[in-house]
Amino acid sequence: MKRLFVLLWTLVLAAGAAELTDAQIQSALNAAYAKYKDLNEGKNTDYIPALAKVDSKIYGIALVTSSGNVFTAGDVRSQVSIQSISKVFTMAKVMDEQGAEAIEKRIGVDPTGMRFNSIVAVEWAQKLMGGPEINPLMNPGAITATSMLAGDNRQEIWNGLLGCCSACAGRPLTVDKEVFDSESATNQRNQAIGYLMYAYEFIKKEPMWATDIYTEQCSVSVNAKDLAAMAGTLANGGKNPVTGKRVVKQENIPGILAVMAIAGLYDDSGKWLYHTGLPAKSGVGGGRIAVAPGKFGIAVVSPPLDAAGNSVRAQRAIADIANGLRASPYQVAPR
Ligand code: GLN
Repeated sequence: MKRLFVLLWTLVLAAGAAELTDAQIQSALNAAYAKYKDLNEGKNTDYIPALAKVDSKIYGIALVTSSGNVFTAGDVRSQVSIQSISKVFTMAKVMDEQGAEAIEKRIGVDPTGMRFNSIVAVEWAQKLMGGPEINPLMNPGAITATSMLAGDNRQEIWNGLLGCCSACAGRPLTVDKEVFDSESATNQRNQAIGYLMYAYEFIKKEPMWATDIYTEQCSVSVNAKDLAAMAGTLANGGKNPVTGKRVVKQENIPGILAVMAIAGLYDDSGKWLYHTGLPAKSGVGGGRIAVAPGKFGIAVVSPPLDAAGNSVRAQRAIADIANGLRASPYQVAPR
């Protein structure tokens, strides 16, 4: 009896040291939800007119562990448009189709430290570095990545990309037509970026196809749970931990997470990494994902944004949860 007790206790201690308990995770989510629920900072973006109309009270948190357990707090049903978070999955798809080198050679994997739709960043890299030293998570790099997707016609390219995003989310995703139309009518700057990348021969053909598909990929509707499953897929070596389906090649995950770490939050990437240690990606729809490799993917949806275009509640809630759960891969106990 005594030996059995000692054995059980040893098992409990071992599990406690290595794994987070369900209760720890749920209480971290609940605490962050409560702490920022009434926070009244930031505002919905309005440069895409349809996004100004989205309910700014939507606030949901979801976390998907690498073993496929799902935790939530708040509103995880309301959908927003995925916006720039989609760039991660376009990048992943191009790497799966053409190899990791294709992205590095054509676009680059370096931070620009500039805003997400910076044209100066392209000029700077071109004139001063003489080559593609940007990355696929800012608009010029993302539109170029979209232009690299495999497919014989627009429909085929689109089906492949939406299929990849859906497999990561674990359900068939759809496009918010109102957001797509609204951004299509106002995306002249992204069209200019498409042509600029074509002029510099980063985009090889049909720059307006690439810009149009890019705009559509940004209009895909997601809730916090979808985004957490997408992040969880990246945390779990490219295999969706809930459905068990392999979506992204395992060998490409470290490169994807590296680019998220250096450029996922544009000019605020360094500050975020400094405080959390986690690769992350934001979108102007109000979503944000972060990845604790081998542990979990987490997402928050809350539309009001700060000046850099990042959701205010999302960044605070994820930082609190990540730090509370000691998720930074850089935080290790000395032996
Ligand atoms: N669709 C948006 C754009 O291109 C995405 C920007 C973002 O989410 N940061 O402007």
